[in-house]
Amino acid sequence: DRPPKHAMLSVENKVVAPPMVYIAGEEMTRYACDLVVKSWLEPYFDLSQWEYFDLSCVNRDNTNDQVLRDAVTAGQRIGAIFKEPTITPSAIQKKAFGLKNSLGSPNGAMRAGWNGITISRDTIHIDGIELGYKRPVFFERHAVGGEYGAGWSKVGRGTLLTTYLPSDGRDPFVVDKRDLTDQHNVVVTYHNPYDNVEPLAHLFFQRCLDANITPYVVTKKTVFKWQEGFWAVMKDVFDEHYKSRFEEKGLLQACGGDLQHLISDAATMQLIRWTDGGFGMAAHNYDGDMLTDQIAQVHRSPGFITSNLVGKAPDGSLIKEFEASHGTVSDLWNDHLAGKETSLNPLGLVEAIVGALQHAAVLDAEKNPDDEHKVKARDQIFNFTTTLRTAMHNTFRYGQGTRDMSGPSGYTTEDFVRKVAWRLQR
Ligand code: NAD
Repeated sequence: DRPPKHAMLSVENKVVAPPMVYIAGEEMTRYACDLVVKSWLEPYFDLSQWEYFDLSCVNRDNTNDQVLRDAVTAGQRIGAIFKEPTITPSAIQKKAFGLKNSLGSPNGAMRAGWNGITISRDTIHIDGIELGYKRPVFFERHAVGGEYGAGWSKVGRGTLLTTYLPSDGRDPFVVDKRDLTDQHNVVVTYHNPYDNVEPLAHLFFQRCLDANITPYVVTKKTVFKWQEGFWAVMKDVFDEHYKSRFEEKGLLQACGGDLQHLISDAATMQLIRWTDGGFGMAAHNYDGDMLTDQIAQVHRSPGFITSNLVGKAPDGSLIKEFEASHGTVSDLWNDHLAGKETSLNPLGLVEAIVGALQHAAVLDAEKNPDDEHKVKARDQIFNFTTTLRTAMHNTFRYGQGTRDMSGPSGYTTEDFVRKVAWRLQR
């Protein structure tokens, strides 16, 4: 039952982990990540090249959010980022934390600063264990636009005009005019920027092709007519670059021989029915947010889903930020503070650390092709991550998994970390 040896890694000769941005967050996930880094990484890696940013509410407040701006700048420069889940404080939390500033979500600043294209969310699988979906489910969530960046106001009776002023000096025109007859209205303006749907399409279709899964595009364009453009770009890219390759692999048999569009409400039902997996979905920002939470539930636990923001640096290289799809797991944190046992599944967090480590290693080796240490470090990191995955998955396979998977007899947060550390040492 031994996992493969971690090849060239040893406690005596630590590998210098390449530069990477490490963003620390809050609560239970911060506690668990500290355990993971100390027990699983520090014995084998020199982590001094990592640039560390503490995005806890208190530190953001103390620095008047300079720490967030610094993290975004470092991410642009380095291109490989790991982020723990963070808290966007509500009015109640602002008071409870004693904050002087109202802090916004850091995710928007990051998605804008790194030219976010897509948030890729995929199911994690453990050979020999059946989770919710038998085969992988991939999700491509448009990283920008829609409701998240909306401007809005609470208004009374009157007329609302939405006017477009072209930047090239053409005549302005009214996009929408409506009379508001209620005393109490909320008006909202948002837009969907579509320039980056083409690179999103390439990332999505290539990922599906590599993993032998069938792609779908999800919108509500039947009613929300403005969403037609998303589908049109996806379909054009598919027809021109991917259709024949999907046909050759027989991956369009499940969907009538062509790329299929799914209406978002129908997609919610298919996600529950298609538990064989083996499909991917690409969707707008908000739909992606909702649908990926549903996937997490069907697939047993939010701990079994990855979340990876892909953006583009000015030189065309990919900026990749890796995080878990879940939040800070406040309920387990409260249990922990109350001295009770907890059982946090770290797989999503660890896939994120591993993803960032690997991307950092690839970028570092690409930037220094003549430096044999950096090329060797890349190969060692890939070796190590295979070993780490095997150690974690074996721990689940031997009935020592966390309680979201193994039930009440499952391991605690700390015992699971100890057990995997033990397997890594063998
Ligand atoms: P959550 O994802 O933290 O937890 C939801 C439920 O799933 C809880 O019952 C939790 O115990 C369980 N769960 C989640 N991940 C688990 C894991 N790895 N192992 C075992 N159980 C797990 O969502 P929430 O409770 O709605 O949010 C808590 C905090 O996280 C909030 O302050 C929220 O703003 C923040 N949040 C942050 C991010 C982010 O930074 N990306 C995302 C979502 C929520």
